[in-house]
Amino acid sequence: MEMTANRILDGKATALAVRLEVAGRVRALRARGVVPGLVVVLVGEDPASQVYVRNKDKAAQEAGFAVRTVKLARTATQHELELLIDALNADAGVHGVLVQLPLPSPLVAEPLLERLDPKKDVDGLHPRNVAALWRGEDGLVPCTPAGCIELLDRHGLVLEGKRAVVIGRSQLVGKPLAALLLARHATVTIAHSRSRDLAAIAREADVLVAAVGKARLVRGSWIKPGAVVLDVGINRLDDGRLVGDVDFAEAVTVAGAITPVPGGVGPMTIAMLLSNTARAAARAAGIDPRELVSG
Ligand code: NAP
Repeated sequence: MEMTANRILDGKATALAVRLEVAGRVRALRARGVVPGLVVVLVGEDPASQVYVRNKDKAAQEAGFAVRTVKLARTATQHELELLIDALNADAGVHGVLVQLPLPSPLVAEPLLERLDPKKDVDGLHPRNVAALWRGEDGLVPCTPAGCIELLDRHGLVLEGKRAVVIGRSQLVGKPLAALLLARHATVTIAHSRSRDLAAIAREADVLVAAVGKARLVRGSWIKPGAVVLDVGINRLDDGRLVGDVDFAEAVTVAGAITPVPGGVGPMTIAMLLSNTARAAARAAGIDPRELVSG
């Protein structure tokens, strides 16, 4: 019989558990007169972004948030977006704001992310939140990396003392995930497109994360037997299928635990967006988020 990973890390089921807990916190907030509000900003008609935004909107509604998607034409100006951010910053009913990236050119995201009130920055991309993460201070953490850690935690997978390798160094995934792994006392290596002998680096990992955007880059032979493999990548093949950055069929025979694509890290991202928004709403109302009952 072919050996398979001891555990498929089911992100869908884990995300559902997180979402139910967040819904409980939302009910507790509402009972205290706080209606947690989320605004998602979508510029243009990118099909993938439209799907992501629709899923976020639906999940937020189901968890009891007051959610609104603001859609702007791709011809919107940088100035219009700045005014929108200013208005959302000033709106006490809005606790979380997410600008769906990437923005269509020539719009640039960074000045908008810096303009957003860091307390409403549920994507965790404001420089203040980035600094808080690396300094080990309280702040809002980007949703995909936070979802990766939550998935490991809820499967009882320990990070302390482990060798972690993150392939990818984006602001959105690779870098913040490296910071979170470091905070959990893993020994962290960040690899990227200029790394030499990626396979050898990957083979050192007890916990291997692929956040690259290249279909099936990571082969089974790159994986240390028994390693935990988190596949962040979402790639669409010519035949329409979605695959990760890891060759799942190969990896599953070597890894100790692995996330599938779809149904692994992806659903956790949305769950953590809701979690961040509930936290931001609690904070804004002067409530310690830990006080809120869940369930
Ligand atoms: P990104 O900004 O394009 O970053 C990709 C990273 O991979 C870069 O650091 C790049 O290195 C590195 N890289 C590219 N080719 C490489 C190679 N051949 N070998 C080693 N490293 C290589 O992408 P991202 O935003 O981090 O997203 C990564 C993937 O995750 C994408 O497939 C995206 O769709 C997916 N994603 C999924 C979720 C989710 O919810 N599951 C959320 C966000 C993103 P350089 O820095 O040297 O260029």
